[in-house]
Amino acid sequence: MNTMRLTAGTLIDGTGKAPAHNMSVTIRDGRFVSIEPQAPQPERGNEGVIDASTYTVLPGLIDAHTHIHTPGGPTDNYALAQLKGSLGALALETYKHVLVDLSMGYTALRSLSSPAYVDISVRDSIDGGILPGPRLKVAGQGLTATGGHMDKAWWSPDLNVEGRTGVCDGPWACRKAARTQLKWGADVLKINPCVGDYRNLHTPWRQEMTYEEIQPICEEAHWAGKMVAAHTAGGRGITDSLRAGVDTLEHAHWLTDEQLETMVAAGTFYVPTLIVNTRSVEQGGGQRDVSPEAWAWLNKVYEEKWETLRRAKEVGVKIAAGTDAGFVVPHGENALEILELIKGGFTPMEALVAATQTAAECIGMGNEIGSIEVGKRADFVIVNGDVLADPSLLLDRANIMAVYMDGVNVTPSL
Ligand SMILES: [Zn+2]
Repeated sequence: MNTMRLTAGTLIDGTGKAPAHNMSVTIRDGRFVSIEPQAPQPERGNEGVIDASTYTVLPGLIDAHTHIHTPGGPTDNYALAQLKGSLGALALETYKHVLVDLSMGYTALRSLSSPAYVDISVRDSIDGGILPGPRLKVAGQGLTATGGHMDKAWWSPDLNVEGRTGVCDGPWACRKAARTQLKWGADVLKINPCVGDYRNLHTPWRQEMTYEEIQPICEEAHWAGKMVAAHTAGGRGITDSLRAGVDTLEHAHWLTDEQLETMVAAGTFYVPTLIVNTRSVEQGGGQRDVSPEAWAWLNKVYEEKWETLRRAKEVGVKIAAGTDAGFVVPHGENALEILELIKGGFTPMEALVAATQTAAECIGMGNEIGSIEVGKRADFVIVNGDVLADPSLLLDRANIMAVYMDGVNVTPSL
């Protein structure tokens, strides 16, 4: 039996409970087994000690929406990155990106689409003990209609780029596409039922998959005990997704009261990915080949997403932190979403819960990780400073003193 004792100056457990000070946490065989106030004179056992008595200890952070095959950032060409190099090279780059996230305290990531099955391969290498890395819940190929959000005409029609996304039309083809992702090991299915529409800002969304296409995908996922994540903007595509049983709504800048009520009743998670929009707006129109119409749309989202977030929070929708890292947002800057949620009305503690306990539930790991509670896996981050007073501390690697998974120090040296 391997036992360690962790002494925490400040302990934030991820459940939303007030921080505790001078705590002693016992970890046995990779799990938390006791959490109690530190005795004034801690008895000397023969177990190892992790001394974080001058630091803050948080549960391992979780990013519920990433694309791990691309670096993100202003110079990243997302379309080209999916085409250049071999799949082997792409897998190595993917591995580098997840290590960058891990180095910032992110011990679990959900990857919502990756070309071919690169994210599945990297997850298997990590889970199989071949390489150290964060926990990954992966989608494999994103499922999309012909010409849809993930099947854009970025390249010449005579180029064959099949296998990069899961293109499917009609109920049976969509059912087969779902079965194919599950066959190759997807943990979650990613669909693209509705997207932003730049043509008319009075209805800034457009549906791309029908209810009859979404429903069999949800059914197959649920039969296999997996979840479905939907890229959405607003409108009937969201209503149809909810009716079909989608588990997590991504982006979803516009939600009606009725849709919010349905989400509360069904326990649907909302991953608003505020930072990808904010970062796009910060980068300015004219950059990254953004058309004037797309620029107007991005600004409309920027003005209206906060109100949707406020209403969702008010009625009690479960809100998880996700960045879209790998698309616009660089890996390693995942904690930006925590700051965005605070900008949108969350307390620092509520924003941390969105990036720990709620995110763990959103990626289907709520029983195993996401909080520092007895029985959970000992995934935690040791941070220098008071993150509740200044959550932006989490953006500077110099403040991330160490990252642990299953009670083992896994801090990458990058
Ligand atoms: Zn995304």
